[in-house]
Amino acid sequence: MSIWYNLLQVEIDLKKLTRNYLFFKKRALNPIPVIKADAYGHGLVPVALSFARAGAKAFAVGSVEEAVVLRLAPFEGEIISLLGPVFPRDYELILEEQIIPFVYNFEQLLRLQELAAREKKQVALALKYDTGMARLGFKPEDSEKILEIIRASQWLKPIYLASHLASADVLESSFVREQKNIFEGVAEFWQKQGFYLQKTLANSAGILAYPELHYEVQRPGIGLYGSNPFYGTRLESLGEGLESGMSVKAPILHLHTLKKGQSVSYGQTFVAPRDLTVAVVGVGYADNYSRRLSNRGWVCIKDKRCPVLGRVCMQMIVVDISNVPGVEPGEWAYLLGGPGRNKILPEELAKWWQTITYEVFCLLGQNPRTYV
Ligand SMILES: *Cc1c(COP(=O)(O)O)cnc(C)c1O
Repeated sequence: MSIWYNLLQVEIDLKKLTRNYLFFKKRALNPIPVIKADAYGHGLVPVALSFARAGAKAFAVGSVEEAVVLRLAPFEGEIISLLGPVFPRDYELILEEQIIPFVYNFEQLLRLQELAAREKKQVALALKYDTGMARLGFKPEDSEKILEIIRASQWLKPIYLASHLASADVLESSFVREQKNIFEGVAEFWQKQGFYLQKTLANSAGILAYPELHYEVQRPGIGLYGSNPFYGTRLESLGEGLESGMSVKAPILHLHTLKKGQSVSYGQTFVAPRDLTVAVVGVGYADNYSRRLSNRGWVCIKDKRCPVLGRVCMQMIVVDISNVPGVEPGEWAYLLGGPGRNKILPEELAKWWQTITYEVFCLLGQNPRTYV
């Protein structure tokens, strides 16, 4: 974003995020925080440095680009790039900055081997297998050929064996067991060949619900940002104590009365059933506050919930404040979080938005952020 046209403010509470990291440290031996996509919209460097201060020795980012930004923060520990090398310059950067790439095809493996041999530098890597997600990853039957390439090279050093769960947050999914079996089959192959690879499979939900899938290394993401993967299910208590570290507020621009029978906003999708006091709030879909929240979302003003009336506009919404006395222009409407007991949870906002908390964080986090 080149110009900050936004009126809303995103506040990131690094203490709360750090508490979430410690929550995972208590439940798993070696959680590597996943801070891809700008730490799910919370800010890659501030989040990483906070977790590092709390003891994190390694991080998983998305792109090689992100890995370099973290290296220059500076961060001296291990940095894993989950998307691996994509562009030609990524290969150079991996070697120069000692980034550990997820490697998921032969082209990457051969190019890394070639460059490492030319530069006479060892390159540590994570072998990424597809065990059911069907996005990125070697297939189990690729193992022999990978082995051949690695045996023929003195420069390629696989240190992690990785895969990703598709349904760890789906209660009693048998697919988790299928993926586990495939993953363990691949692990056995490498072990038999004399490789000691650290196995990593579990995301946040996997860590909470499947202790048997912890292996040597775990990869929590969404839980670090305070969203409980089991919110609203009978496993909800597994994520009890996680707390969102993002709050988002926008200023009230104007107040007026909406007379009974009067409509509001584009398309006249809301008509006042009685006289209402309404507030116009300075946020809209241009700030990534989705138009899907039209007539569905709620904001929190003076610790009271106020419904969004009519369509979300580009830079404004209208909310009903009839039940909130003493509101004045310039006061804040919380779209996420809030200072009181009625703060808006990321899971609630995601539900009104008809999406998941991951998307809520990533999108709202693209706005101007401040840190507390
Ligand atoms: C995003 C991601 C994670 C973290 O998943 P959460 O569900 O956010 O905990 C772990 N591993 C990989 C490969 C990922 O892309």
